[in-house]
Amino acid sequence: MSARILVVDDILPNVKLLEAKLTSEYYEVLTATSGAEALEKVKSESPDLVLLDVMMPGMDGFEVCTKIKEDQDLAHIPVVMVTALTDSADKVRGLEAGADDFLSKPINDIALMARVRSLVRLKMALDEWRMREKTASQLGVVDDFSNVMDELSDKANILIVEDKDFEQRKMEETLQTVHDKITMVKSGAEAVALITDNEYDILIVSLNLDGEDGLRLCSHFKSNEGTRSVPIVMVGNEDDMPRIAQGLDMGAHDYILRPIDSNELLARVHTQVRRKRFQERLRSTYEISLSMALTDSLTGLYNRRYLEVHLEKLLEKNNESKKALAVLLIDIDNFKLVNDTYGHNVGDEILVIFAERLKDNLRSFDLVARLGGEEFVALLPDVSEERAHMVAERLRRSISDLPFPCAVPEGMLSIATSIGGALIQHGKHSTQDVLDRADKCLYKAKDSGRNCTVFEGYGKLNSDQFQIRPHGLSEQ
Ligand code: GH3
Ligand code: MG
Ligand code: MG
Repeated sequence: MSARILVVDDILPNVKLLEAKLTSEYYEVLTATSGAEALEKVKSESPDLVLLDVMMPGMDGFEVCTKIKEDQDLAHIPVVMVTALTDSADKVRGLEAGADDFLSKPINDIALMARVRSLVRLKMALDEWRMREKTASQLGVVDDFSNVMDELSDKANILIVEDKDFEQRKMEETLQTVHDKITMVKSGAEAVALITDNEYDILIVSLNLDGEDGLRLCSHFKSNEGTRSVPIVMVGNEDDMPRIAQGLDMGAHDYILRPIDSNELLARVHTQVRRKRFQERLRSTYEISLSMALTDSLTGLYNRRYLEVHLEKLLEKNNESKKALAVLLIDIDNFKLVNDTYGHNVGDEILVIFAERLKDNLRSFDLVARLGGEEFVALLPDVSEERAHMVAERLRRSISDLPFPCAVPEGMLSIATSIGGALIQHGKHSTQDVLDRADKCLYKAKDSGRNCTVFEGYGKLNSDQFQIRPHGLSEQ
């Protein structure tokens, strides 16, 4: 996967070295030799990853990282700090500034490339969700963009797979200072048994288990539906580096080397949990916005936008099928009178119940949508003419036969509806034509006294006379 990487170091030979390594792996490389220049390039070039030297005169790496992570538009860009310092306090400071990882100079090539690949992949996935969030905002259904740095990272549910008692205890003591529920197991089998019934925020897996391969377990987590998106942090020794690189390639998110430094462990878990929660938030915003964009908030039915797309699909399919598609346009009779007499709130109550009755009287694969106001559409695929008539009449009667409970002095209102229907045989039809045909019939139904169904090429199916009136009063 190609990507654009910004290399930042005040010492030019260092920049050149990294540039050469990355270019040979077909990455596109941008460079900067000061903190200020780095910030400028992050803003103007929007790279997929930043490799950031810590020690620079003027603005140092920590400050650059903090500034990137504070900026709503840049915070999602992964930052890897690169330093000659091996002091763990510096690592933690970098991670707390929002850095995604820390690499020590001289840079281990395997560690570098595995890191770069894994962070680039992660960035691409996040970009996809951010794009959807943007679409949702253009549709006007979300108005607030998420920022990864705003996510909480405490109270996580953690599963640790480690068979050495001493190591287990150390991790537990460290993590329980900020996290809620820490479960420890000694083997992959125990872990696999737990993941089916529990939801974890993060999985910590030792690569040095006795008699089993921690990488195989990571691969199992990655291929299992329930754990696929849960971050994995591998724990290994310096000489496990080639396996750690393999693990990162297979989708593990991070690793920590023994002896485990408590603060580094906390900081890495913190980063992963925060990122997972960020991704979950983007996903749920997207799902909510999608449903808001396609459904009507009052009745919960699909809206016109959805109906039009769905109808188009049905018409394409209908073109090849021998069966007909019935399109029913359903409009409440004298609804303005309900609003004018009893108020808009009562009108809304009626609309909600009306929608429920339509839904209750259709098959699961029929579709009912609210076109707007007090006008609805039902689409009945694969129907005969006889069945279409029967269903239309059933819908109409489901409205007029039973009064609507609502906030009027009498407690109930009698409501009626008119229906215009068209049977669409196979052939080429546009959605607008089809809706217009049903609309003409609806108009005839209104014109011939309301509370009736008129079908194209057939006429009126019944001749009841009906008026809106409080329930219990006889018809005039
Ligand atoms: P007809 O029998 O010819 O259909 O008469 P009508 O009064 O039902 O039709 P008209 O189109 O004149 O009025 C529709 C009314 O529906 C007007 C509007 O106030 C009301 N309406 C539209 N949307 C809503 C809504 O979301 N809530 C409520 N309470 N009323 C709505
Ligand atoms: Mg009406
Ligand atoms: Mg109307």
